[in-house]
Amino acid sequence: MTKWVYSFGGGLNEGGAGMRNLLGGKGANLAEMASIGLPVPPGFTITTEVCSAFYANGNNYPPELAEEVAGALHRVEEMMGLTFGDANAPLLVSVRSGARVSMPGMMDTVLNLGLNDQTVEGLARSSGDERFAWDSYRRFIQMYGSVVMGVPHHRFEDLLEQAKRGLGVHDDTAIKATDWREIVQSYREIVQRETGTPFPTDPQAQLWGAIGAVFGSWMNPRANTYRKLHDIPASWGTAVNVQSMVFGNMGDDCATGVCFTRDPSTGENIFYGEYLVNAQGEDVVAGIRTPQPMAAEKATPDQSPMEKVLPNAYKELLRVRELLEKHYRDMQDIEFTVQSNRLYMLQTRTGKRTAAAALKIAIDMAREGLITQEEAIQRVPPTSLDQLLHPTLDPKAERTQIARGLPASPGAAAGAIVFTAEEVEDRAAQGEDVILVRIETSPEDVHGMHAARGVLTTRGGMTSHAAVVARGMGRVCVAGAGSIHVDYKAQTLTAGGVTLKGGDWITLDGGTGAVYVGKVATIPPTLSGDFSTLMGWADDVRRLRVRANAETPEDAETARKFGAEGIGLSRTEHMFFGPDRIGHVRQMIMADDHDARRKAIEALLPFQRDDFASIFRIMRGLPVTIRLLDPPLHEFLPHGEMELAEVAAALGQSIESLRARRSALSEANPMLGHRGCRLGITYPEIYAMQVRAIIEAAIAVSHETGEAIVPEIMIPLVGVKTELDVTRKAAEAVVAAVFAEKGTTLDYLIGTMIELPRAAITASQIAEVADFFSFGTNDLTQTTLGLSRDDAGSFLPYYVDHGLLPKDPFVSIDREGVGALVRMGAEAGRKTKPRLKLGVCGEHGGDPDSIAFFESVGLDYVSCSPFRVPVARLAAAQAALAKKKQAGIPA
Ligand code: PEP
Ligand code: MG
Repeated sequence: MTKWVYSFGGGLNEGGAGMRNLLGGKGANLAEMASIGLPVPPGFTITTEVCSAFYANGNNYPPELAEEVAGALHRVEEMMGLTFGDANAPLLVSVRSGARVSMPGMMDTVLNLGLNDQTVEGLARSSGDERFAWDSYRRFIQMYGSVVMGVPHHRFEDLLEQAKRGLGVHDDTAIKATDWREIVQSYREIVQRETGTPFPTDPQAQLWGAIGAVFGSWMNPRANTYRKLHDIPASWGTAVNVQSMVFGNMGDDCATGVCFTRDPSTGENIFYGEYLVNAQGEDVVAGIRTPQPMAAEKATPDQSPMEKVLPNAYKELLRVRELLEKHYRDMQDIEFTVQSNRLYMLQTRTGKRTAAAALKIAIDMAREGLITQEEAIQRVPPTSLDQLLHPTLDPKAERTQIARGLPASPGAAAGAIVFTAEEVEDRAAQGEDVILVRIETSPEDVHGMHAARGVLTTRGGMTSHAAVVARGMGRVCVAGAGSIHVDYKAQTLTAGGVTLKGGDWITLDGGTGAVYVGKVATIPPTLSGDFSTLMGWADDVRRLRVRANAETPEDAETARKFGAEGIGLSRTEHMFFGPDRIGHVRQMIMADDHDARRKAIEALLPFQRDDFASIFRIMRGLPVTIRLLDPPLHEFLPHGEMELAEVAAALGQSIESLRARRSALSEANPMLGHRGCRLGITYPEIYAMQVRAIIEAAIAVSHETGEAIVPEIMIPLVGVKTELDVTRKAAEAVVAAVFAEKGTTLDYLIGTMIELPRAAITASQIAEVADFFSFGTNDLTQTTLGLSRDDAGSFLPYYVDHGLLPKDPFVSIDREGVGALVRMGAEAGRKTKPRLKLGVCGEHGGDPDSIAFFESVGLDYVSCSPFRVPVARLAAAQAALAKKKQAGIPA
C-alpha cells in the first residue's frame, strides 16, 4: 500500500535527502537534518504523490490520507506534549509547500495554524505572554486570509497602518495585547466581508484548508508559467510540510533568520546572513524592520550582530553551519528560529551563488578537503565564466529596457549610437564609447566592430556575421533585435515607443540580449587566481583539445592567453578588407583577363604572407589551421560609383563593362552560391596565392624561431570528393614549387571542412584525400535544417519559446539531425583513415552542451572564439568526467 505521509524530527525520521522526488526538497532536507541530530521541530511531509493522485482523481485525496495525517499529527502532539486545538496547551503548526526544485509561484507558508478564540488564550497562558499570543493570532489570520482564502494582503496592512496611527505607535512591537485583540476582530471582519465566509475556527478545517491551498497552488497560472520556463513537468507535483511551530517572536531571547554558510556573492568563507530579534520569518523579508548581520566581524558599530546579542544560539549555529557543510559538501542556504535561546533549524538547501562565488567556493572546498578536485570542476557552470571574463551590468543600476534581441556575445557595454563603421572608428579614435548599430553587418564593418564597445543588429541569428565576428573579438553583441527599427537616412533608432538619434546613448547586455536606453552602469571583470587553478584542474582531466578561431594577431594573442592549444580556424576572408588590400581584392575579382587578375593577386601575396607569419609566430609551433577563401564573391564587389571608378581606373576598363560584370557576379542566394571551394576551383589563382603565402610564411618562421611549424590548410564547403581532389592537387603543386624555390621542405596537412550534408554522408570517400576534417557546424546546421543563418532571427525565438525546438540549433547542436551527420561523418572518415584528425570549428565548439556531444563522438578538438576558450576547457573537462562516470569508473 502506498505510504502518503512521512514523519520527521523527534527521533522518528522516515525520510532523508535521497527522497527529494517523493518528499520535495524542503521535506527531504528537514528529515535529513533531523536524522543527523540537528534540532528540527517535529512534523510530517505529505508526499508529492498525493499531489499527483489528487489531480488524477478529479481533485480528490487518496482515501487513506486523512487517517495517515491524523496519525502523524498525533505523533507530533506526543513529541511536543501539546494537543492540536487544545484550549490549554495548543499545538500550533506551520504549513509549507515544497516541490523537488524550489519553485516560486506556489503557496509558500502559513504560520501559527491552529489558533482560534479559545486556543489563543491557552497560548497566552502557557507562554505567559498575552501580547505574543494575540500577535501570533493576527499574523495567522493575515497569512491564512491572504494565501488560503484569497483576501488581498494590503487590506490587512492598510488596517494595521490605520490602527498604528490611531494608537500613535510606529513599530508593531509597540502594540499591546488589548490592541491586538481589537485588530484580530477587525481582521476577521475583513475576511467575512471579502470572501462572504467567516474565518475558520476549527483547527482541523484550518489544516485541511491550508493543505488544499498548497496542492491547489501547484496548478495556478504563475506556477504553470514558471514550470514552462524551466522545463519542470507538471507530473512532479509538490509536497506539503506540516511542522510544529517554534516561535521567534516570543521575546528578546527569540529570533529568526536566513543565512548562507558562505558569502553567496563573493564565495568568501564567512557566515553570511541576517536575523531579527523577536520576529517571525516573514518580518525578515517584509522590510519593516532592518535585519541585522550574523557575525560581529562584519558589523558596523550601529548594528547588533547575532554573535553579540544571542551568543549561545550563535555558537550553536556555527556548529550547525560546519556540520551542514560537511554533510552536504556544498554551501547551504538555511533558515532558523531561536526560541528562548534555543536554536531550531527550519530549512537547508544548496545555496544559489554568483559565478565568482561558485568558483571560489569550489576551489576552497577542494582545498579544505570537503570535495575532490573533480567535484570542484563540476561545481562551476562553464557559461558562468562569461560573467568573470566580461563586464556585467551593475545589478543595482536603474535601467529601462527598450528591446530584446539574441544574446550573441556576452558582456555589457554602453555607448553612443553610431550607424556606420567609419564613424565608429573616427569617434572611438577621439576616445568616445560608441555602439555600432546596423540592420546587419558584413565583412566591411569589421574595423568598426573592432573600434566599438558593442554591436547591435536588427536582423540575423546566432551565427550571423555580427554574432560570429563580435564573439571572436570578445565584443558585446545583441543580434537580430527585430523590434528595433533602424533608419539610416534619418539616423534614428526606434524601439519600445522611443526614438533615439545618432549620438544618444544605449546600453547592451550581450548575456541576455536586452537593449536599454541611456547609460547603465557596468562592473568590470576580475580574474582571481582561483580561475587559473580551476582551469589547471580542468586541463588535467579533459581529453578534448581546445583551439581558437582567430585570424588577427590580436585574437591569436587573446587565444593563447586563455589557454588555446592551437588555432582551429583562421578565416582568411577577414584579412581582405584592410584599406591597403580591398582595392587589390576588387581588381582580382573584376579583372576580365588572366594577367590583370594575376597582378592583383600578386599584390596581395606579401600581405597574406605577413598575416600568416605573425600568427605562426604568436602560436609558437602550436597547430594552426588556415582556411582558404570562403565567402561569396559579391561581398567584395565595389559598391558605390566611386569605388567602381577606382577599380576601373586601376584595371584600365570602362565603368560600363565593370557595372555589367558586377551584375553578372551578383547572386540571388549567395550563401548557397559561388563561395568556398567553388571559388577556389573557378578562380584557382586565389587559392594558389594563399597556399604559397602559407608555406612561405611557415618556412620563414620555422627558420626564424627554430620551431617546427606544421601548417594545416583547410578547404571550405566541399560537397563532393572531386572538389577536394582538384583543390588538393593544385595546392600540392604550389607547395612543391615553393619547396623547390626555397630548397627546403616542411610537414603540412591538407584537410577539409565538413559543412554540407553531402560531405558528411560521403565522408568515407572524402577522407581518402583529406588529412583532417573540421566540422563547420554553422553551415551544416544551416544546410541540414534548410534554415538561413542570417534570417533565422525573425522566427527562431518563437520556435524555441513555444517548444517546437528545444534550443536555438545555431547555439547548441541539434543532436538528432546535425549531430547525427557529425557522428556519421566522423565514423565514416575514421573507417577510411583510422587516425584522421577530427575537429569542429562552428560556433558550437564553444557551447558546453554541444561539447559534451563532441566528446561522445570522439572528436580530437573543438575550436571556438578566443573568449570562449576557458568555457570550452571547463566544459570539455566536465564532459570527460561525465563520460567516465557513465562508464562506471569511480572518480
Ligand atoms: C561553419 O560553417 O561552421 C564555419 C566554421 O564556417 P563559417 O562560419 O565561416 O561559415
Ligand atoms: Mg562555413
